[in-house]
Amino acid sequence: MPEGPEIHRAANKIRKALEGMVIEDVELTVPRFSEAGQDFIGKTVNRVEARGKAMLIHFDNFVMYSHNQLYGRWTVNLKETAAKKWNRSLRISLTTGKHTCRLWSATDILLMEPWELSGHPYLSKLGPDVVIPETTVEELVEHMNQKKFQRRRLKVLLLDQGFFAGIGNYLRSEVLFTSGLHPDRTVSSLSDEEKNKLAEQALFLSRQSYDVPGITVDLDLYDKLRSVGLSRGRARHWVFTRNDRECHNCGHLIIHTRPGRRRLDYCPNCQPE
Ligand SMILES: [Zn+2]
Repeated sequence: MPEGPEIHRAANKIRKALEGMVIEDVELTVPRFSEAGQDFIGKTVNRVEARGKAMLIHFDNFVMYSHNQLYGRWTVNLKETAAKKWNRSLRISLTTGKHTCRLWSATDILLMEPWELSGHPYLSKLGPDVVIPETTVEELVEHMNQKKFQRRRLKVLLLDQGFFAGIGNYLRSEVLFTSGLHPDRTVSSLSDEEKNKLAEQALFLSRQSYDVPGITVDLDLYDKLRSVGLSRGRARHWVFTRNDRECHNCGHLIIHTRPGRRRLDYCPNCQPE
């Protein structure tokens, strides 16, 4: 499932292809919008942005909102290139003079007027976005200090997009590890120092994972692990999917848990209760 870094990278690709360009052709297979295809033709894309895990494509008088949930995927191709043949169904394709951007399998697609965005149930509840450079440690700590979060456990909060937007499953395990925090800790149990560390690590790992796709370990360690023959998948995380292997810091075995049926791995020694 795509997390903040992946959504922001997808937004960048789409931005390069669409921003400032005029839509020349459109294919819209979402039944409730079957009439709306014509609305796109001849319109200029003003802006493409990711918010949390949602993608927004802004036109003059409307905005296309999409949220990929588990299966949605964007592809960007030169317009001459045939669409990929795979087991995903096309929802929308937008073609400019040069490129075609296609959204596959997503079910959560809306056409909204710009003023409707602030009231949208997903967008209006989003916490600070951990991938964008504007978000600061202070902002995250202030957000974390709200009363409604105090008694909740970090393992639950870190998947709540109202807490830190953009953190998903792999980042949850990784941020808890590099912050040295046990998944069952509550916000109210954290010292100021621990809150700062959590905020710092949420920003640091999300941004590294955006810059160097999907890699959350220290980059020197990554190179070292690759040089001794580990695959990218085996080398890229501190703890996530590394259950029953040795912790890179202390050698203890990593533990696997599944709170809410979503994988969470941690080191019992580096992240004591
Ligand atoms: Zn450890």
